[in-house]
Amino acid sequence: MKILGIETSCDETAVAILEIQASTFKIVSNVVSSQVQTHAKYGGVVPEVAARKHAENIMPVIIEALKDVLPSQILFTRRKFQRNLGGQAKTWGSKSAFNNTLTGVNPNGVAPVRTRQTTKSAASEINAIAVTQGPGLITSLRVGAEAARTLSCVWNKPLIPINHVIAHIYSNWLTPIREIRNPKSEIRNKSQILNSKFPNINFPALCLVVSGGHTLLVLMKNHGKFEIVGQTLDDAAGECFDKTAKILGLGYPGGPAIARQAEQWKSAQTSVGVSASLRKSKIYNLKSNIQLPRPMLNSNDFNFSFSGLKTAVLYKMRDMKSASCGIGADMSAEVLTKAEGTRRFTASIFINQMAYEIQNAIIDVLVAKTIRAAKKYNAKTIMLGGGVAANKELRKRFQEEIQNLKQPPHSPPVPRQVGEQGEIEGVKKQNLTITNQQLKLFMPETSYCTDNAAMIAIAAYFNPKKISWKDFEPDPNLMIK
Ligand code: ADP
Ligand code: MG
Repeated sequence: MKILGIETSCDETAVAILEIQASTFKIVSNVVSSQVQTHAKYGGVVPEVAARKHAENIMPVIIEALKDVLPSQILFTRRKFQRNLGGQAKTWGSKSAFNNTLTGVNPNGVAPVRTRQTTKSAASEINAIAVTQGPGLITSLRVGAEAARTLSCVWNKPLIPINHVIAHIYSNWLTPIREIRNPKSEIRNKSQILNSKFPNINFPALCLVVSGGHTLLVLMKNHGKFEIVGQTLDDAAGECFDKTAKILGLGYPGGPAIARQAEQWKSAQTSVGVSASLRKSKIYNLKSNIQLPRPMLNSNDFNFSFSGLKTAVLYKMRDMKSASCGIGADMSAEVLTKAEGTRRFTASIFINQMAYEIQNAIIDVLVAKTIRAAKKYNAKTIMLGGGVAANKELRKRFQEEIQNLKQPPHSPPVPRQVGEQGEIEGVKKQNLTITNQQLKLFMPETSYCTDNAAMIAIAAYFNPKKISWKDFEPDPNLMIK
């Protein structure tokens, strides 16, 4: 079967087609039109602009995705119409070509010279339409919703509404296990060469969904059975990356920008002022002079809070400014980089060090709370999802922490109460059980962490609650049930 997925919850217009046969799947197409550059000018997503861009992009993105499922003859080019229809070609604009793509019908009632294959149409190829119902920006969701309702109505195919947060979790099923290359095929994108088996993911699974709009810990007991066990009380982790990057003058999106600067500080530390023997041993003490809080690290629950971290960064910047250590009244990156000599050097070192500390503060809290929750709920699997899950350091830290849990104990475990000082150590020791020997970590490929429609399609495959297009409404505040 083939599912066409549509995602427009925030600032990515995405359409994907997923083909599933028994326990293998193939991402036939995976088209994403990102508005990041448009919103970068404003330092964040502007809902009205996002909706307008979705409206402009949704049809070209659908057509691009369909190109991968239909033989090229169906996607008539103007040149082909001219060849096939002679003088009548003038009446066939690109809009007509598009109609033909969707319905397989020649609107002029003139049959072009067709090969056997051209009798195919999108309607006969696609079995269901999956679409993000929410949560998200209503004006953005509405565009994807109307496109999905239209296709569902015209093609007479069922509609499958999908929760965006749940879809982020399902991106873990897209992890390619095996790649089959077909030398005869015309390889247009990576999706076309993948033919993968579904990974074997054991339940219960503890899922950390971290993106620009969401920070949630979700206990997944089975397909379709989800329970929120923790969430942010204010800003999302990605939002914290974005807002602190803005304070540091690093631009939007903040996550990758902070990660880049943090990496610069780290590599400067490891190449300067570290003895050759230590460098060889790969043991570095990357102690930062800047200390930021780890909000709610020791709280007696699985909730998060990131707005205090953002405020702490703001105050540090103000302190640095008033200590006149090289940062002027204007803290934009442009001004910082234009500063000269020592001033410039001090400022950039400070920014890099801040970025490193912000990233660490966010990672410390996310990793500690996720592992603690996995322990409490006897999870067999930890899964990550959402844009922040693309962060290299976060992925590395999860791998290391879980690997540590699996080390054979050198000393008897010391049980500690949640909330005590040094509880991360305590949790590590408590976790030396048979269950934790089985604990597996899944992280989606980084391209599936940020918003995409392949995750919408795969979520629909595992949760096929089909409805009529007439009954579908987007819901900006959609909850996990
Ligand atoms: P949403 O679903 O809320 O629109 P996405 O899942 O598309 O968000 O993720 C976007 C968020 O992920 C942004 O806040 C961005 O800063 C963050 N992000 C993307 N890449 C990274 C990274 N490498 N490190 C940290 N954060 C990242
Ligand atoms: Mg998202």
